[in-house]
Formats: sequence, C-alpha cells, structure tokens
Amino acid sequence: MTPYEKLLLENKAWAHEQVQEDPEFFKRLSALQTPDFLWIGCSDSRVPADKITGTQPGEIFVHRNIANMVVHTDVNLLSVLDYAVNHLKVKHVIVCGHYGCGGVKAAMTNMDFKPVLNMWLRNIKDVYHLHKDELNKIQDEEHKTDRLVELNVREQVMHLVQTSIIQRAWKNEQRPHLHGWVYGLNDGLIKPVLEVIPGSHIDPLYEYGDL
Ligand SMILES: [Zn+2]
Repeated sequence: MTPYEKLLLENKAWAHEQVQEDPEFFKRLSALQTPDFLWIGCSDSRVPADKITGTQPGEIFVHRNIANMVVHTDVNLLSVLDYAVNHLKVKHVIVCGHYGCGGVKAAMTNMDFKPVLNMWLRNIKDVYHLHKDELNKIQDEEHKTDRLVELNVREQVMHLVQTSIIQRAWKNEQRPHLHGWVYGLNDGLIKPVLEVIPGSHIDPLYEYGDL
C-alpha cells in the first residue's frame, strides 16, 4: 500500500467510526457550519488546530500559512477573515504561532530562499526590525527565535485590528475578540500572549472614521 492509499483507507475508517458514534454526524454538518472561532495558524504539520484544542469538525474555521502571518495585501487571508467575520459571525479570531517556527527561524538568517519565499519571509524580517533593540540583546539563538515568535503573533493580531473588516464588526456588533497564542511543540501547551477586546483603540492613522 502506498502512503497516500493509507490516507484514503484511514479516511474510510474515520468516517465509519463517526457514524457509529453519532449517526446524524455528517447529515448535521453538511447542512450547516456555525463555528465560533477563526484560527489563523502556521502551516507546520505539527500544529493542527483541531487536535491541539480538542475541537470537532464544524467548530473552527481555519486559515494557515507560513508563520501565521496577517499581511494586509493577502487576498486569501482577507477573504477568509471577511467570510468568517461577516458571514459566519465568529466571536473570536485566534492568531496562533508556535515556538521553534521554521518560518521565523528562516527569516532570522541571511539566506537567499529565492522568490517567492524571500517575499513572504520579508514580512517576518520587518517584525524583527521593529523589535531589534530587544531581540539583539538576546544571546541564545533558540530563546531569540521564541521571543520573535511571541512578538510576531502580537504584531499579526494588531494587523487584524488595522483592517476595516474588524473595525466595522467592532463598531456594529461588538465582536470578535482577538487573541494571540503561542503553542509549544515541546509540551503541547498553548500560551496566551495577547487579547484585544472589541472597541480597543490603535494609532489613529489606522482607524477608519467613516465605517
Ligand atoms: Zn511555523
């Protein structure tokens, strides 16, 4: 059996198991999804949103990219955010990074990863640059990477606040709450590093006045 055939076989077993436990499982899910959470996480295969939070299909709407970035020109991310906030009406948006992130590590090097990766990693380099005074003081490389992971999560949450999508939802419906979390590959635990409640203010330059 090839590795991909094993995936298909495992899928059959899983689907069978779900129906055994709850005969209405797929009927219910195929009719409606009403997740309370949007998860913006890293593509890293070791950080599966549902497994580490003990959630079931239908509970979390998920977007993943390298190093869980919120880039204001990324139509993919913005479409997911728009749909989750304005149509699914999620109550929480979580940006979840993880210690030991390969994307963050790569951005801290001087290596040429060639386009398109250089372009993407540039966004993380900009976060380093913002916090270089603090980061340059850290001698231990692993510790430095992990601190940048935390700072990066905070920056990406603030990028969410800078979108008109979030600001409009805050003004009209007082949701969603925004969260910055970091997952530990070593212990499987999530550390909350930032929470931003609806109505919070940021630099007026980024606040829309005519929402
Ligand atoms: Zn990562």
